[in-house]
Order: sequence, then structure tokens, then C-alpha cells
Amino acid sequence: MNKRIYLDYNATAPIRPTALEAINSVIKQPLNASSVHSYGREGRKVVESAREHVAKLINTDSNQVLLNSGATEGNNTVLQYFSQQYPDEMILVSATEHPSILELRDILPNVKVIPVDNQGLINLSALETLLNDYKTCLVSCMAVNNESGVIQHVAEISALAHKHGALFHCDATQAAGRIMLNMQTLGIDFLTLSSHKIGGPQGVGALALGMCGITPTLLYGGGQEKSARAGTENVAGIAGFGAAAKEALEHLNHYQALGTWRNKLEDGLKATSPEIIIHGAKTERVQNTCFFSLPGVDSQTLLMAFDLEGIAVSNGSACSSGTVKSSTVLKAMGLDEKISASGLRISMGWATKEEDIDAFLGAWEKIYKRLKR
Ligand code: PMP
Repeated sequence: MNKRIYLDYNATAPIRPTALEAINSVIKQPLNASSVHSYGREGRKVVESAREHVAKLINTDSNQVLLNSGATEGNNTVLQYFSQQYPDEMILVSATEHPSILELRDILPNVKVIPVDNQGLINLSALETLLNDYKTCLVSCMAVNNESGVIQHVAEISALAHKHGALFHCDATQAAGRIMLNMQTLGIDFLTLSSHKIGGPQGVGALALGMCGITPTLLYGGGQEKSARAGTENVAGIAGFGAAAKEALEHLNHYQALGTWRNKLEDGLKATSPEIIIHGAKTERVQNTCFFSLPGVDSQTLLMAFDLEGIAVSNGSACSSGTVKSSTVLKAMGLDEKISASGLRISMGWATKEEDIDAFLGAWEKIYKRLKR
């Protein structure tokens, strides 16, 4: 097979060499960070150093960061905790959240959905109406959408939640390392992260706490993470996460340069096929993501055509890959079933090169011509 091209960073990013090095430097040793002997103390040092880097990425104090297995766990921890603790109050979640939030509607009795506009932005007046109608304990809204890359107006949403006495949770999985994040200025009480979206290993992440004094807990047991998240620390994974967080922060400015290639990609797509629809293009998006539909062609067909060309892209929610589903994000944005089933996502990252975009556009021309015939 020819060289393969990876353009699916929002599903998972390739591991950064620095993260791999950090993992390799500790994984061969039996480091249980809770043990008191020298191995344990060594493990503790690795964990605490990584925690510092993760905290810096979101501009908070390392004492506020709990390490866990990723954003699915973080999101579940916060929502399940609030549902249990405040059974008579509502949890409001935006309509374009990741399934690790949205699916909880079917399990937790007190979750309601906030509608979004045609760009995927939370409808602030609809949120205010819900906050007036229901006593609400928590509002949950992502910072950046995983499918469209659309950036939510987090500060305004958190201010509205606080005005009505609710706390604010933000899934910042797709925002970290892509835009500047500051828990305090954005008014975030709980923030979830996942290491592998920023070039760290999979199966590790963090839940960061604001200053409200509440520590949502899901796993009880051995008292790790100040008894807020039981389970032996994934020391090697955490080391990789720390290294990735450090580099992601250092390269934040460089990351913005991806916007030039995204523009090239979108100009090229429109030049070949003027009928395409680029989702969320009328509002601010992170620089690495392009989510588009070719009306009448389902995304699975396009995805497989690109795969045959050696190019890995996604039809949005890669978490459920293997199943052909229309995008809940596009449906929430008011698009019909046909367009919602045709969204194709290209997402770039730290190792993307301009020639990858050129190869994508070359393949698109070929695939598009074939489809037209
Ligand atoms: N939230 C968002 C916005 C995501 O993109 C993802 C990963 N697709 C998750 C949560 C879940 O992350 P993980 O699978 O690493 O737990």
C-alpha cells in the first residue's frame, strides 16, 4: 500500500514522540504511586509532574486536577454525581454533546437538552427559558464540538448558569491544545479532558475542579486521587499525558497555523464541488477541523472511498464506527436526515503536513468525478 495519510485527529491523535519517550522511561518499572518505598516515591513524582503540566494547559492549580481514564469517565462522573445528589433538580446539556453526556438522558431521570442554532451554538434564550422553568443544579456544555469544531460561547453560558444558581461543567476534550483555556475566566466548575486527543496515550485523562468545593466521585475503593477516584494510577499513561500536555501548550500558537491548510482544503473542496455544505462555517471553529456534506452521498461511501486511497477520515462520531448512523450533531443543527447522514470530517493535528492536504484534494477530485459519472 502507498503511504497512508491520517486526517482523523479528533478521533485520536498519533502519539507525540515526547509522550512515547515519557511512557518508555517509566513503563518497565513497577511504579505504584501509592507505595511508600522508593519505587512508589518515583511513581508519585512522575504523577505529580504530569499533573502540573495538565493543570498549566487549562490554566489552573495542579491541586484541582484529578487524573482518571479519560473524558468518558470525567463526563459520567460529573453527571451521575449531580443526578444522584440533586434528584429534584435538572441537569441541562447542549444538544450537540458527545454521547458520553447525551446518552445519559436515557439513564438519568433529570436530564434535559438545550437546543442549538444552525451553526451548533447553544441558543442562549432557550437556555434562559429552561433555567427559569426548572430548578437546575448543573449546566453542561462542551467547549468545542468533536464533529464540527465549532467553539461554544462558554463564558456566556457559564455566566447564565451561575446567575440561576447552577454550576457549570465543560467537556474541553476537543478544545485543549487547540484554543487557550482558563477555567477561572471561563467560569468553569468542572472540566473534562482526554489525553489521546492531544497526542498522549489512550485511556487516561483528567477531571479538573473549579472553586465550588464539590468533588464529584464515581469510583470508590483504594483512596487514590484524594479518595475522589479510586484505582491504581496509570503511571505510564499519566507520564505520557503530562508530556503531551506540555508540548500541546508550547505549540498552541503553531497550532493556529493549521487554519491556513484548512482554508486551502475548503477552497479546494468548493472549487471541485461547489454544492458542498461546510458545517459551522459561519461561526468560529478550531483551526484543525472541516466537517462537510456532499448532498445525496452518504458519508460511509465517501469514507470507504478515501480509505481505498489510503486516507483516513471520519464521518463524525468515530466512537460508534462500524455502524452507519446519521450525525446527531447535524440533526441538532436542524439539517435533514439526508444531509445528516452525509457529514464527512477531516481533522488535522501536530504531525499533519501540507502535502497531506494536497493528497486529500487530489483524491477528492478523483472520487467526486467517479461519483458524478
Ligand atoms: N468528549 C468529546 C468531545 C470527545 O470528542 C470524546 C472522544 N471522542 C470524548 C468526550 C470521550 O473521550 P474518551 O473516549 O477518550 O473517553
